[in-house]
Amino acid sequence: MYIFYGHRVLPDKQAVNVQGPDSGNVISVSNLERLLDRLTDYKCVSVDELGDMRDVADDRCYALTFDDGFKDNLDVLLPILKERGLQATYFVATRFLQGEIPFEYDLWQRVSHNGDSDDDYRTVRLQMKTGNYATRQAGMNEKYPQSDSNRTSERLMLSRDELVELSRESMLSIGSHSHSHLVLSRQLPWVAFNELSYSKRAMESWIGRRIEHFAYPYGARSFWTDWLARLAGYRSIFSTEAKRAQRFQFCMPRIPLERAHAALDLEL
Ligand SMILES: [Zn+2]
Repeated sequence: MYIFYGHRVLPDKQAVNVQGPDSGNVISVSNLERLLDRLTDYKCVSVDELGDMRDVADDRCYALTFDDGFKDNLDVLLPILKERGLQATYFVATRFLQGEIPFEYDLWQRVSHNGDSDDDYRTVRLQMKTGNYATRQAGMNEKYPQSDSNRTSERLMLSRDELVELSRESMLSIGSHSHSHLVLSRQLPWVAFNELSYSKRAMESWIGRRIEHFAYPYGARSFWTDWLARLAGYRSIFSTEAKRAQRFQFCMPRIPLERAHAALDLEL
């Protein structure tokens, strides 16, 4: 089966206007609809079903997952899923809710506000990705202080109330994408464990349902982060290893939506 992952889903006119190095994280409604049309003869399953499925290796199955917790997953994506009767999983980074942490999207605003280049953005982002939460925020604020005009995360991300609202939708499953969206494999073990565990427990208390699945921020995993995820109580975890899932295992591969057509063409 194919497990796809995406981030933002925007109406066509808005999708073309998204600028910056992370614009690849956006799929337009038309492109998503085109892909879903192609998948009409495939069975859409929830990641909740994977452990019980005997036919995970079935090429005519797929699952949809969306990372980070963008507000457009509620406003734009959810109506499409409902209309088509499709299942999906939203992997939410709890510290992204309400834009509590201004990260990539705010950073890009600040860099472009200063008139700096894509390369400047990538350099600062790379330095910050590998740090812990405190060093990352300090590094960003030092080089690119925040102003009211360059704070975007707050309006881009879901609020906690919206997450609770989404959790009541029968076709959706909510998973964790960590708390602070750090590169877990570069963190101290107790920091990584807290990232895995806190987001799970916090969302469980908000939505009153178990959080059983986890998707790695940046797909960055290691043997010991997988082990910590087991310890934190997850039933399955998801990487960004772009290949078909052949069998159920604790860590499942996922293919980015922008490569979905190629994957289907080539039966990757
Ligand atoms: Zn992410």
